[in-house]
Amino acid sequence: MSLTTPAAPHPVLPASARPRTLSLLKPTGRLTLGNLLGALRPMAAAQPESDGIYGIADLHALTVPHDPARLRALTRETMTLLLAAGLDDSTLFVQSRVPAHSELAYLLECTATTGELNRMIQFKEKGRGRSSTRVSLFTYPALMAADILLYRPSAVPVGDDQRQHLELARDLAARFNRDYGPVFVVPEIAVPPVAARVMDLADPSRKMGKSHEDGSGIVYLLDPPDVVRRKVQRAVTDSETGADAVRRSPDKPGVSNLLEILEACAGPRAAAGLTTYGALKAAVTDAVVATLEPVQRRYAELAADPGAVDAVFRRGEARCRELTEPVVAAARAAMGL
Ligand code: AMP
Repeated sequence: MSLTTPAAPHPVLPASARPRTLSLLKPTGRLTLGNLLGALRPMAAAQPESDGIYGIADLHALTVPHDPARLRALTRETMTLLLAAGLDDSTLFVQSRVPAHSELAYLLECTATTGELNRMIQFKEKGRGRSSTRVSLFTYPALMAADILLYRPSAVPVGDDQRQHLELARDLAARFNRDYGPVFVVPEIAVPPVAARVMDLADPSRKMGKSHEDGSGIVYLLDPPDVVRRKVQRAVTDSETGADAVRRSPDKPGVSNLLEILEACAGPRAAAGLTTYGALKAAVTDAVVATLEPVQRRYAELAADPGAVDAVFRRGEARCRELTEPVVAAARAAMGL
């Protein structure tokens, strides 16, 4: 019996018409001001022109030790916050509810090599050498490649930390196309649009990240005004005094960060005339509270009506299934399944 069968002609699936923006957020912590200014707000602003597809990457959250009840709660909170941040006109989904992601991830694991995955810097940093590391942390780049290739974007904007994973996704797509037929669009690597980069208020050398354990320098989107005020009051600055102490400079990371936040929240002229750190912190507090207020108000309305949130996600997930199922079907057929 011969194991080779002539391959069926592969349908070359149409690429998307409107430019497609795809982004997945891992529900491993509560969303922060950094997520809002660096991701959600630019995503909402791009809505009319781009076909935004935004997912909650709950499968990726399983690559490190996790608590099921916390994951469920964070997924629900993130769903509600994406809507509260104004992403109503985008396609929103929870990754595990679109089965094509895990199915294509397996097919891509059968395209990748252990040598390739071993070279991934994130795995080297986070997992290698620890006996308790989950296998899924090692294979994570195959799932991420599936997340991308399923939606056939022509370009994917990525920051430096994800560049190596995107290069792998491109290699896997090109190899798959060469070996089995033209199923995937090989996405270009695009420079992400400039967005605010918010640093931790207590340690301005690191990003304000939702997975950090010490939350004293992190403003969460659902922090009430008095908590925002306390965190900003305690923000690290420096000992400079004098009329021009309030300025951006590489050797003033704390003050530069406060100015970045202030201008991102209240506009480029918002710091004009501020001469003391006390006045700067008061202005930052007011600007952040005013930025969070409409998000929190909408969050409270939506949290009281979880059925409305579910309906939006059900619609988004149906569209994602529609978009992704033909891609997986083509990949399965090409591989001989
Ligand atoms: P993460 O929370 O690291 O999973 O990132 C989700 C999205 O939020 C990505 O688009 C990040 O670039 C963006 N993001 C996360 N933290 C920050 C931050 N501190 N400043 C700006 N953007 C951020």
